Amino acid sequence: MATNDSKAPLRTVKRVQFGILSPDEIRRMSVTEGGIRFPETMEAGRPKLCGLMDPRQGVIDRNSRCQTCAGNMTECPGHFGHIDLAKPVFHIGFITKTIKILRCVCFFCSKLLVSPNNPKIKEVVMKSKGQPRKRLAFVYDLCKGKNICEGGDEMDVGKEGEENPQKKQGHGGCGRYQPNIRRTGLELTAEWKHVNEDTQEKKISLSAERVWEILKHITDEECFILGMDPKFARPDWMIVTVLPVPPLAVRPAVVMYGSARNQDDLTHKMADIIKANNELQKNEAAGAAAHIITENIKMLQFHVATLVDNDMPGMPRAMQKSGKPLKAIKARLKGKEGRIRGNLMGKRVDSQHVLSLRQIQICVLIK
Ligand SMILES: [Zn+2]
Ligand SMILES: [Zn+2]
Repeated sequence: MATNDSKAPLRTVKRVQFGILSPDEIRRMSVTEGGIRFPETMEAGRPKLCGLMDPRQGVIDRNSRCQTCAGNMTECPGHFGHIDLAKPVFHIGFITKTIKILRCVCFFCSKLLVSPNNPKIKEVVMKSKGQPRKRLAFVYDLCKGKNICEGGDEMDVGKEGEENPQKKQGHGGCGRYQPNIRRTGLELTAEWKHVNEDTQEKKISLSAERVWEILKHITDEECFILGMDPKFARPDWMIVTVLPVPPLAVRPAVVMYGSARNQDDLTHKMADIIKANNELQKNEAAGAAAHIITENIKMLQFHVATLVDNDMPGMPRAMQKSGKPLKAIKARLKGKEGRIRGNLMGKRVDSQHVLSLRQIQICVLIK
């Protein structure tokens, strides 16, 4: 039986919890301590440590054993690695949601733009129990018209006659004007109608790093109001800071006649990411000019985005040397022949199925 090939203990699945992998979780499940840093796969005829065929990620031929689990090619299920990004970038699968959340919270202090004590928010929370998407849609409608982060609690106004006289704790917003946030391709801008002080610029390009800072400061309580359970999906996890590198079994190299290997598209893409990341890191360490760093981040952003989705409308596609567009993760999952409908929903339980289950983890990354 195919399932007996694996040494992993068999368990009965009771429930499936979807979420976003946190940076901590990605590092925890990674076997490549220190991260994958080299775009090369081999060195002196052997898989290179911290390269894209790191021997801790699995086995590449019938004669070797895995450096993580000591299994051979049929026993080893493959293991995830990771790449630490020099700067955060947007995750293309989450960018719409990222902007939505961003428009609901203060640009400066990350507080919800409508107080959690506002009766309208309380009503929304009540009527959207168990429907997080709906909850966010309702809260978004309440917040999108606010262009200032209110200081006091608007509930206190005109409610002197109420039974409980003690003043409710104010929402304590910072009182600053909010920008309009717009997206063009993979870039965001923030533009203010009213500036908070004369020195403030009216329009800025909004980096993923800045967005990450804003999202990180959203409290757990307000995450729930935004329809996200912080235990399984915090808003800042929608920004990519660490990238999981799928096991070799997910991106097998085709061995050609002789010793040449034809690497999988994902491996090529990961190599582009590592090169862009190393370039950015090098220039940052050398104190390069701001416009150079900006260009480096743009390049990294492009490669991380096209790893996930290489069919974005109006966007240039990442190409192979042959001129064929690279097949991204999304294209592997979607459609009748994709991993979800083609493998996961299949009736047969075979080794292919086990492999597919592991790919849920990648699937979760693109939502
Ligand atoms: Zn192994
Ligand atoms: Zn504020």
